[in-house]
Amino acid sequence: MRSFLIGVLVTASAAAAIEVPRTSFAQSGRTGAPTADLLEWPLPPGEQSYARIDGRHMHQYVEEQAAISRRYRDQGHPKFWGRIIGTSADAENAEWLAKKFTSLGMADVHIQPLDLSPQWFPQRWSVTVSGGGKSIALDSAQPDYRAAALPSGGVDVEAVYGGLGSAADLAGKDLKGKAVFLYTMLGLHNEEAVKRADERGAAAIFEVDMQPGNMRYQAYPSNTRAPAFTVGGDDGFAVRDLLAAAVQGQPVRVRATLDVEMVPNLKTALVWGTLPGATDETIYIVAHRDGWFEASGDNAGGVAAMIGLAEYYAKIPREQRRRTLVFIGLDGHHNTGPGSAVGGVWLNDPANKSRLFAKTALAINCEHPSTIQTYARPRYIAGDALHWSNMYLAQQWYAGGPSRPELGAIAVRAFEEFGVPLLKDPNPRPPAGDLGRLYRFTPGVATSEFFHYFHTDRESPDTVPWTGLQATTRAYAKIIDEVNKHPLSMFQRPEEPVPTP
Ligand SMILES: [Zn+2]
Repeated sequence: MRSFLIGVLVTASAAAAIEVPRTSFAQSGRTGAPTADLLEWPLPPGEQSYARIDGRHMHQYVEEQAAISRRYRDQGHPKFWGRIIGTSADAENAEWLAKKFTSLGMADVHIQPLDLSPQWFPQRWSVTVSGGGKSIALDSAQPDYRAAALPSGGVDVEAVYGGLGSAADLAGKDLKGKAVFLYTMLGLHNEEAVKRADERGAAAIFEVDMQPGNMRYQAYPSNTRAPAFTVGGDDGFAVRDLLAAAVQGQPVRVRATLDVEMVPNLKTALVWGTLPGATDETIYIVAHRDGWFEASGDNAGGVAAMIGLAEYYAKIPREQRRRTLVFIGLDGHHNTGPGSAVGGVWLNDPANKSRLFAKTALAINCEHPSTIQTYARPRYIAGDALHWSNMYLAQQWYAGGPSRPELGAIAVRAFEEFGVPLLKDPNPRPPAGDLGRLYRFTPGVATSEFFHYFHTDRESPDTVPWTGLQATTRAYAKIIDEVNKHPLSMFQRPEEPVPTP
């Protein structure tokens, strides 16, 4: 297996064979036997200057951002935590990033405060399921963002098994005023199950993620009248067992509470830093700072890549930087719904837009650039686990769209050269994330991945392989350098219309 993997690398890169170290990175280590170490893509010949972009070094920035999240958690926020917009973690993160920019000698480093509309903060919640003399507290239950509060004092209602929640699963079931348990997993067909249960009058909806483990998952708004919660796999299967064992006339019951506050007068910020170039033409490098839990893949990795690029270009003399590089730590978008993404809204203001982006040759959004490749319950391996590989995942991508074939070609070549696996076809529009607010009026590049640990309390720094961070960031730098060989006219286009959904 080892020689096979090395062979693949050598063929793909035409580089000399690399020595694969025998030290362990993996979470397993069950037997003390050697484990497969992360595969590092060798630098292509002639590209030695990019060796300064070092994945292990950038990974420290992932660790530092995760620590900001944990500090917020440990200050009295044990269940709804992260680098959440409007919190002290948001403010600490903004200061942290500005300090990084300042330490690089960047120009015009500043934190631009932005007002927030009242923000959703669940204060307390609990879910207990009882039946057949047993009682289970669902520790993994996490309310969907913006979920409506339950009546004060909570609810005590009958539980219903909803299966996948398709019309067939729910046929003949009375959900009115009940707690419905639905089962899903990344990769399954979208049954619109939560919406269907809401339409049938459920009092509360529990969506079990059937992944191995018992992770908390912070979901985006369900836009339902009844509050929806996500539930980890172990908890969800335990509830299913209770439901299976229930006897006629003694239904399983759910006792649930959820208190929510809309907190006014909070602020977030854009964090700016500039590396002036030889001209007033611009290249933007942006990354969103917010995220749930340790938020390592989403998006400490992206912020780390952005800082890695700033470090790389800060060492190059100004006269050799053809265009001015503007870096923005965005507030982000996890506070989805009305009043969210105020930074993106500010950048879209016509006056700001025309001032900032009139001479922009490129905008790279660094978002989820490195995600460990995992396999859920691989075939013929016993047990109920997520298995880690020693490789980072292929990413969804967008590089300027069909009207900018030159940018697409530059990007694909750079990703191939530096070992960034991609889905075969580009997304018609940027992957879900912050380039979505910029790509219609800037030549945008983004790659991104959303996998098993996305938005969970297991999204720790080790889910961001330094190898992927290194490969993607080097490719971004290569794209910047190649774009700088060409005039603005090659990349600029009239603003595209807002796409119809
Ligand atoms: Zn993200």
